[in-house]
Amino acid sequence: MQLQQKIDLIKNNQAVAMLAPTFAIDFKYPNIIGMLKRLGFKEVTELTFGARMVNWAYANYIKAHPNQELFISSPCPTVVAFVKTQYPDLVKYLMPIVSPMAAMAKVHKKFTPKCKVVFISPCWAKENLEAPKYKEIDAVITLKDLKQIFDQERIKEEDFNKDYYFDSLIREYTRIYPISGGLASTSHIQKLFKEGEILVTDGVENIKKAFEDFRNGNRQYKFLDLLNCPGGCIGGPAINKQDLSIEQRKKIIFEYTHRSSEATMGKQEGKVKDAEDINLKTSF
Ligand code: SF4
Repeated sequence: MQLQQKIDLIKNNQAVAMLAPTFAIDFKYPNIIGMLKRLGFKEVTELTFGARMVNWAYANYIKAHPNQELFISSPCPTVVAFVKTQYPDLVKYLMPIVSPMAAMAKVHKKFTPKCKVVFISPCWAKENLEAPKYKEIDAVITLKDLKQIFDQERIKEEDFNKDYYFDSLIREYTRIYPISGGLASTSHIQKLFKEGEILVTDGVENIKKAFEDFRNGNRQYKFLDLLNCPGGCIGGPAINKQDLSIEQRKKIIFEYTHRSSEATMGKQEGKVKDAEDINLKTSF
C-alpha cells in the first residue's frame, strides 16, 4: 500500500493508531497522541495490553509443554524468518504465539470490529514479513514515514502541548518490551525456568551463536529471548533518530515508561479476562 493510500485510510475510516513503545525515541509523549488525532485517527492506543496478553499466553504454553527442550521467542519477524530459512530444524521451537502487534490488533477488532488498525512500527519487517499474516492489521506505517506525513501535513509537536491519554486498555509495565530482554523480564517466565536457563540476546551474530551452540549439543539454555536489532527494537532501522546511541534510546524508553505510568495509572487497565477468549496461537 502506498503512503497516500494509508493516509486516505486513516482519514476516511474509524482508524486506530497502535503505537509501538519505540515511538518515544522519535516523538514527544503525550503530544504524539494529539498529533495522530489531528492526522485523522479516531483512537490512539499502545501495544502494552497486547504484550500483557502475549506474556500470559507464553506462560501457559511453557507450562503445558514441560518436556520441550527449547523455546524461542517469536515477536521479531526477522528472527522468525532467519530460523525458517537458516535453521529449519529449530522452527519447532518457535513459540506458536502471536506478537504484541497482532495480539493488540485482535483486541481492537474484538471490541470495535469495523475499525481499521494501523500499526506504527520501528522497522519494515513488521509490515513486509508479519502484518500480511493477520487480517486484523489493516496497515503499517514506519516511524520514518510518520515523520514524513507529519511534515507534509504541517502537524507540529509544539502545537500539541496538552494532556492527552491513550484510548485503549493498557498495561504500563510492558512498555520496556522493545528493549532487549523486555519480554523475559515482564512475562514472569523466570519462575518457570531454573537460574541460567534463559538467554537474552540481540543482533544476528549473537543469535547465530545461540543456535549453533544448541545444534552442537549445548543444552544450557531452555528459553531464548531474541530480537534481531542491536539493543532490541530500540535499534530498529525505521527509527528517525539513528544518531542516538542504544544507551540513549534505552534511557528515553525508561523515562517514558516512568512518566507515562504516572499519567495513566489506574486508567483503563486491561485484564486477562478482557481478552482470554481471543485466539493468540499462530504457526510458522
Ligand atoms: S528487533 Fe528489529 S526487526 Fe525485530 S521487530 Fe524489533 S525492530 Fe523489527
